[in-house]
Amino acid sequence: MTDTKHTRLLIIGSGPAGYTAAVYGARAMLAPVLVQGLQPGGQLTITTDVENWPGDTTVMGPDLMARMEAHAREMGTEIVTDTITSLDLSRRPFTALGDSGTRYTADALVLATGAQAKWLGIPGEERFMGFGVSACATCDGFFYRGKEVVVIGGGNTAVEEALFLTNFASKVTLVHRRDSLRAEKIMQERLFRNPKIEVIWDHVPMEVLGDDQPPGVSGVKLRHVESGEERVVRCDGFFVAIGHAPASELVKDQLKLHNGGYVWVESGTTSTSVPGVFAAGDITDHVYRQAVTSAGMGCMAALDAERFLAGADSAAETEARSEAVGEPAA
Ligand code: FAD
Ligand code: NAP
Repeated sequence: MTDTKHTRLLIIGSGPAGYTAAVYGARAMLAPVLVQGLQPGGQLTITTDVENWPGDTTVMGPDLMARMEAHAREMGTEIVTDTITSLDLSRRPFTALGDSGTRYTADALVLATGAQAKWLGIPGEERFMGFGVSACATCDGFFYRGKEVVVIGGGNTAVEEALFLTNFASKVTLVHRRDSLRAEKIMQERLFRNPKIEVIWDHVPMEVLGDDQPPGVSGVKLRHVESGEERVVRCDGFFVAIGHAPASELVKDQLKLHNGGYVWVESGTTSTSVPGVFAAGDITDHVYRQAVTSAGMGCMAALDAERFLAGADSAAETEARSEAVGEPAA
């Protein structure tokens, strides 16, 4: 039998955006329900040191997210271990179906499903996934003690992954498709100073090479972006760190999107193209994509939802009163 749970405010996602929306929603007495998804705590749970969360010079990503969860719970949010598999935004209350079989109905919705790692789509990548190919150094770095690894990308994530991997690997090769990095300058300085790291500029990966018995990566074929010349770099681990794509699959046919899949919101608000549905964090932000900006948008989404619900309540009251005295609502 399907279990149905109704809430004034449903929050989908448990990253900084979702937990902050939960704190504000609970303090507005909306008794929010938050569905955590497959990655409770979101992207920061796969990193180590976070050095730009105001108030903490350094904090471990998983610790920060555990604190946010505890805060949201303490304020009165119901936190549910479930994943939403489908959403119906065509009428209110909105309906969300959970993987557990639970059907959630909500008067307002905050979408905070964040982003997921992008893959290269080259031969060998899928074949060796979990057998040398990874998108998470924090999760898998330990397996490469004394071994050689390659990291692909030039942003903060790639540089952070490369630095973290030097704790285990004997050599880390960072391969970037241009001749300069996108990562913050302070991160670049740390990278260039590290004797275990070599950077290969202006190359793209063509194929992950390896063996089947036992399954494992043995190297990567690279191509120079201008000359087209190919070379093979030996490695035991291949880490893809080329960014993240917004997790908007659930709403791609129901909400207006922008910039290749990010949920569109009205400028200066978190209002999406469907009244009563609000979006916060990496799901809508293709520019900043930071923990603190996601948390800020989570706060805005809860406040926007509170205002929306207050407006909807007073409209319903006016309608009920008009019906009682036999007059059409204004
Ligand atoms: P996310 O953190 O992406 O969380 C999304 C949530 O949605 C997850 O809980 C997931 O389980 C849930 N979800 C998804 N789909 C569903 C579904 N169908 N049903 C239910 N739930 C669902 N930023 C910084 O400011 N400082 C840093 O040092 C930093 N380091 C980073 C290191 C790494 C390796 C990475 C990948 C990112 C880093 N970032 C950092 C960026 C930061 O993590 C993100 O900007 C931030 O986590 C986005 O928060 P969010 O709440 O929007 O979503
Ligand atoms: P990103 O900034 O989008 O960088 C992605 C990198 O991968 C870019 O260098 C890009 O190259 C490269 N790339 C993309 N597609 C590629 C492909 N098909 N083949 C080869 N290379 C490819 O992503 P990110 O590093 O994951 O960072 C995402 C957001 O999280 C950013 O806003 C970042 O600031 C934030 N973040 C912050 C921290 C921190 O504050 N410490 C840590 C991690 C992440 P080009 O440069 O040529 O485009």
